[in-house]
Amino acid sequence: MRKPSIVILGGGYAGLMTATRLQKQLGKDEAQITLINKHDYHYETTWLHEASAGTLHHDRVRYDIASVIDRSKVNFMVATVEEIQSANNKIITDAGEVPYDYLVVALGAESETFGIQGLKEHAFTITNVNQSRRIREHIDLQFATYAAEDEKKPERLTIVVGGAGFTGIEFLGELGNRVPELCREYDIDPKKVHVICVEAAPMILPGFDEELVKYAKSKLESKGVEFRIGTPIKEATETSIIVGKGEEEVEEIKAGTIVWAAGVRGSSLIETSGIENMRARVKVNHDLRAPGLDNVFVIGDCSLIINEEINRPYPPTAQIAMQQGEVVARNLTALVKGQQEGLETFTPDLKGTVCSLGEDDAIGVVFGRKLTGTAASFMKKMVDNRALFLIGGLGLVLKKGKFKFF
Ligand code: FAD
Ligand code: NAD
Repeated sequence: MRKPSIVILGGGYAGLMTATRLQKQLGKDEAQITLINKHDYHYETTWLHEASAGTLHHDRVRYDIASVIDRSKVNFMVATVEEIQSANNKIITDAGEVPYDYLVVALGAESETFGIQGLKEHAFTITNVNQSRRIREHIDLQFATYAAEDEKKPERLTIVVGGAGFTGIEFLGELGNRVPELCREYDIDPKKVHVICVEAAPMILPGFDEELVKYAKSKLESKGVEFRIGTPIKEATETSIIVGKGEEEVEEIKAGTIVWAAGVRGSSLIETSGIENMRARVKVNHDLRAPGLDNVFVIGDCSLIINEEINRPYPPTAQIAMQQGEVVARNLTALVKGQQEGLETFTPDLKGTVCSLGEDDAIGVVFGRKLTGTAASFMKKMVDNRALFLIGGLGLVLKKGKFKFF
């Protein structure tokens, strides 16, 4: 009998969790499993703010996918997915076509620019290793050029971060530690540097615990971050951003570096896949299958799950992506073994949220308890290490884990 073919798109948290669980749950003769990822490495998306600021080398945030998969059970294909043809059960990649019986879409997120003019051309985004390397190199170059030029352009030393959600705040925390290092390296007076965060909402980290938000804001301000809250970015140019000021007025802020961290959407490949979606995210059924498609699962940042208590979507996180990967692996195992009905329902089991403010500080709510400072920072590193453990076991934690706690 022909083995069913399972194809997993994306080797991020969701896809790699699915692959590593499936390789334990299914025998070689039961299914043909293929994992397709753009690169031969997995990166910890949750650490990209560190690589972007230059506080952690990009090689520390990635590892070889081959080191965590069982090649005798999973066929790993390094390729870029170009099209998902859900009507034909086929994937088009830059390395050829791949048919499937079962599909897992786990292609992660893209930056959401809400159609704001100039952002795509002039702003950086913290979305993958290559983008992080560009941001780090660009900031370095701005400092080096400023130090070397005779007619100094002060705006080279202005870094604008758009959005004070978790990504923006974590990046600002890293910049708070990195900027003093850069100033020492390039003999620049720290007073000449401006790190400005522009947030449209009336507060930073909208919706998060107010006491913790106050702590984060004052800690970041003490590291030199200037906040402009209630100030939406309206446009980006090659050398500046234009922000709204009051009802009608706008203001131009000259900046050598603009980083847009104001939201995410699903992979744009979903929009042409024939799968029902909203801003490239699929409101999946309880068992994580796409509506109307019994052989397609969508997980991670490409999926949309409603928190029925408040009737709003859960924010997309690695925590949810990994839990979904485990459930999809069990559901696929059940399908391959012949069970057609009663697949497992996915229910997020949220342990809390921790937001770093640089390597040495953080805020968080974990199991309902509020944490700040060293305790929160310790917890954040434990969360980071746990993600490594769940995918690659103790060996991966020892190789890539974070152990500088105090
Ligand atoms: P990803 O982990 O991003 O993986 C997507 C994979 O798909 C990548 O390997 C990519 O290369 C691959 N891919 C994409 N397109 C293609 C293509 N066309 N062809 C082939 N392969 C492709 N969440 C938390 O829970 N806790 C945190 O502390 C946290 N911190 C964060 C910090 C930052 C700076 C950011 C940006 C996000 C953070 N998040 C955090 C959110 C979290 O990172 C995401 O929710 C999570 O990565 C989603 O997992 P995923 O598997 O859907 O996507
Ligand atoms: P987000 O949507 O959570 O935050 C975006 C922020 O940008 C919001 O505060 C919004 O008001 C602001 N904004 C939107 N338009 C703007 C404009 N025109 N001008 C200025 N500000 C504007 O996005 P994110 O921070 O990228 O996070 C994406 C997902 O990743 C979320 O689900 C988040 O929970 C998750 N994440 C989690 C962590 C963590 O747990 N430590 C860290 C990073 C990201």
